Parts: sequence; C-alpha cells; structure tokens
Amino acid sequence: MILFLSCIAFRNNLCLSSIPSTLKSLPLDGHFTFDEVHFAAKDFGNRYQFLPAAILHPKSVSDIANTIKHIWQMGSHSELTVAARGHGHALQGQSQAHRGVVISMESLQGPEMQVYTGNSPYVDVSGGELWINILHESLKYGLTPKSWTDYLHLTVGGTLSNAGVSGQAFQHGPQISNVNQLEVVTGKGDVVTCSEKHNSDLFHSVLGGLGQFGIITRARISLEPAPDMVKWIRVLYSDFATFARDQEHLISLGRTFDYIEGFVIINRTGLLNNWRSSFNPQDPIQASHFKSDGRTLFCLELAKYFNQDKSDVVHQEIEHMLSQLGYITSTLFLSEVTYVEFLDRVHVSEVKLRSKGLWEVPHPWLNLFIPRSKINNFADEVFGNILTETSNGPVLIYPVNKSKWDNRTSAITPEEDTFYLVAFLTSAVPSSTGTDGLEHILTQNKRILEYCEKAHLGVKQYLPHYTTQEEWQAHFGPRWEIFVQRKSAYDPLAVLAPGQRIFKKAI
Ligand code: FAD
Repeated sequence: MILFLSCIAFRNNLCLSSIPSTLKSLPLDGHFTFDEVHFAAKDFGNRYQFLPAAILHPKSVSDIANTIKHIWQMGSHSELTVAARGHGHALQGQSQAHRGVVISMESLQGPEMQVYTGNSPYVDVSGGELWINILHESLKYGLTPKSWTDYLHLTVGGTLSNAGVSGQAFQHGPQISNVNQLEVVTGKGDVVTCSEKHNSDLFHSVLGGLGQFGIITRARISLEPAPDMVKWIRVLYSDFATFARDQEHLISLGRTFDYIEGFVIINRTGLLNNWRSSFNPQDPIQASHFKSDGRTLFCLELAKYFNQDKSDVVHQEIEHMLSQLGYITSTLFLSEVTYVEFLDRVHVSEVKLRSKGLWEVPHPWLNLFIPRSKINNFADEVFGNILTETSNGPVLIYPVNKSKWDNRTSAITPEEDTFYLVAFLTSAVPSSTGTDGLEHILTQNKRILEYCEKAHLGVKQYLPHYTTQEEWQAHFGPRWEIFVQRKSAYDPLAVLAPGQRIFKKAI
C-alpha cells in the first residue's frame, strides 16, 4: 500500500515538474510565459491571488485548442486546469487558475472585427475583444450593439460568461440575449461553432455559463442603428415605494426611454461614493452632489437616445413622460452628451480614481437579483437598518423584465416576471479598520445575505461566489442537474474555469 501511494506521489510529482516542458513542446502561433505570471494572479476584486504555472498568449484559436487538447489527453495524470482571463475584472479569483494555465484572451485580437451591414446587422469579434473597441468599430458603420454593461473596458467572453446587464436590459435583455453565434473551444479541445440552430445546447450552456463549458473565441453580436446623442436625466425620490413604482411603470411601457437605472444616495460624500456619477461638468446642478442631509434618497437615472435634428421633438416626449412620474419636482437634472460619452461614462471615473490610487483597492462587491414582490421588504431592511451611514461606493438598483432573458441559457435569475438588480459596488480603503475597511464591508454584505436568506426573499446572486458545491447547488436550484450534465458533456475532466470553484478536477 505504501509503495502504491508513493508511486502516485512520484507520478504526480513527475507530472508537475514536467508540465512546463510538455507545454513548451506544443506547436503555437503565440507563446507561453512561465516566469512572469503574477499579473494573472490578480483581479479587480483585489482579494484573491492564485499563481498559475503558465500564461498562454494565444495568437490563434488553434493555440487555445491545442493547449486544451493536450491537457485533456493528459487526463487525470495532470492537475493542470485552464482559465480564460478576459480583462481580469472578476471579483473573487474567477479568472485565475492555481498552478494551471491562464489564457490571456486579449492576445487573441485577430482576425479583424467584421461588421455586416445588411438586414439584421451584426459584428463578429474575438472573445478577448473589449466592448469599448466594438463600440468604436461598429459606429464607423452607423451601428451599435444594443445591450451594454455600465463599464465598457470588459471583454466579450467575460461578460457573456455572466450575463452583461445594464440600463438597456429591460428593453433588449442582457448581452447574452443579443448574441447570434459563438465559436467555442470545449474542455476537450474541440472547436465548435454554435448558435440557436446549430449545437444549440452548447450555445445556451456557454451563455451565462461562468466559463464552465468552453472558451469563447468568437462571438457574433447583434447591432442596431446608432444614435448621435443622448439626453441624460436624473430625478430624486425620498420614498422608495414611489421610486420603484415609477421604475416598474417605465420598464412596462416598452421603448419610452432607452436606458433605465437608479441608485441609492446614502450620505453621499467623497470621491469613492461618487465614482460612477461622472455627469457632464457643465450641468448647472449635479444630482450626485445633491445634499441628502443625512437622509437616504433614491435617484432614477434615464437616458433617451436621439439624432441632432430631432432634439426638440425628443425634448417634448421626455417632458410628457416625466410628467407622469412622482419624483421631487425640484430635482430634475438633464444634460445632453454624445452617445460615446454616455456609454463610456464610468471610464472617466476610472481615470480619476486611478490618478488618486483609489482604483486598485479591494472591491468586496455584492450583486443580487431580487424578485419584484420582495423589493420593498428588501429596501426597508437594507436601506432602513443595515446600510444607514455610508455605502462605501455606489449602490445601483433597477428592475428588468425576465421575458427578455432566455431560460435555456445557464444564467440564473429569480422566478418572477420582473426582478431587480441591486449592486453594492463597494471599495475598501486598504488596511482601514473603520467603516470603510474590508472587514466592515464584508460583515455588512454578510448581514444583507443573511437577511435575504432568513426572510426567504428568493434572491439570486449575480456574478456569484460560493466556496462549496452545496452552495452552488442551492444557487442553481432545479437547474443544477442540467448544469452538471452539461459539464460532463463539454468539460468532463473539469479543466475549465477552476476559479469559479464549482467543480474540482479529479487527479
Ligand atoms: P474576467 O474577469 O477575466 O473573466 C470572468 C469569468 O469569465 C472567469 O471565470 C473567466 O474564466 C471567464 N472568461 C473570461 N473570458 C472568457 C472567454 N473568452 N470564454 C469563456 N470564459 C471566459 N457586469 C455587468 O453585467 N454589468 C455591469 O454594468 C458591470 N459593470 C462593471 C463595472 C466594473 C468597473 C467592473 C470591474 C465590472 C463590471 N461588471 C459588470 C462585471 C463584469 O461583467 C465581470 O467583471 C466580468 O467578469 C467581465 O470581466 P472580464 O472581461 O475582465 O472577464
């Protein structure tokens, strides 16, 4: 028996020590690095650091396929796993691979983005492409993707592995509802093109699939005609129920506004709390600077797209729609910005925070999907009892229509027709032990989650993070079985995205 165990240890050690050389022998268009791997052990969350054994900088899809096939063929003799790293904006090590291979997806820039301008226009892009680049490219043809995230310096593969939700989602659904086709490298190293019609199970598995079923190497994103300009509006409420009622009313009307979000103002002071509120500086009064005098206020944020020649007509339409809402009438903030300025608004704040050393701090974010019927209970408890002094960063809150989500994808949402995204986008001040420190914020997050659990709100985490399979099982609920089946079909050795900690590679 002892002999047997030591053989296994020997075999594993042998495999471990020979990993770099077996990878080195692979024929590649790109290359591996084995020494300078620290950057792949870091992400936006700034809390988890797992060193990989190697980083692949692929130049072609076959670089990715050959690497994964090689690892697949080594089977359980190797502990190597593979994580795609988009822009590394995950929060808890999801794009990291401890002693595994991280694929730097941004190296896979080619072939060039291709915009198709006929009926039902689209753009074909690499899985490592940043959304900001897709915006600029499609605008050259007068076109634009329909559904966004609030921040565009994220990769296509990264957001499609989650969902991609922003203020356009009530109308168009999340980004995963606006993809026509994908090219995917599975956990066996097979390169497969999939869509609604072809290999549809893989297509739906990968969308919202947390990187578990394959690496997205290309995506075909649906486009629409782009506007030039945006009327950007903020109005304030002191009563949550009225705020939520108006949001729900607006999303039920179809295309009244093009973007509907909202955020909570809790003792709003300081740069960190304002970081996503970069409003046009020419604006006479800025909603984000509104003195809340210790009260909690709720800001409805709206945008209406338009072309220069239609400015007056659009203005009248907006006035008409706003007249139906119950906000505090003296708190109407309206500015006009270009479409690009509007969509890339968070980047302005990023530049500001970076210059002050406040970007690369721990981000203990908590993102929740809350059923509509429970949102008032949630707001009462969280904004009335738990988060009363400060929010340590923006708190977003807005409803979306479930009918715009495809329930064949892997994304998990609450059961009701309408649910809210509530995002606590907190930043912790490094080494602070006060209310702006990591420990305090994590305790607050825990209190929020414990309340949701105890009150049976039917909440689902977005960008979820769990450490045990039981928790993942509870997250997926009745969809766990299909998730497991899909895993065994497309990544049976559990090679992919180990940083999600859903499955563990058997060795
Ligand atoms: P990574 O963090 O590198 O990867 C995330 C996961 O996807 C990992 O498991 C990784 O292995 C996997 N993955 C990456 N690329 C691929 C690929 N090509 N194929 C398969 N799997 C892959 N999200 C929203 O929905 N709405 C928002 O408004 C929004 N705003 C944000 C603002 C900021 C400032 C930040 C930092 C994040 C925001 N996010 C938002 C979250 C964002 O969607 C996630 O961080 C997501 O992980 C995208 O980041 P990334 O491209 O850097 O991917």
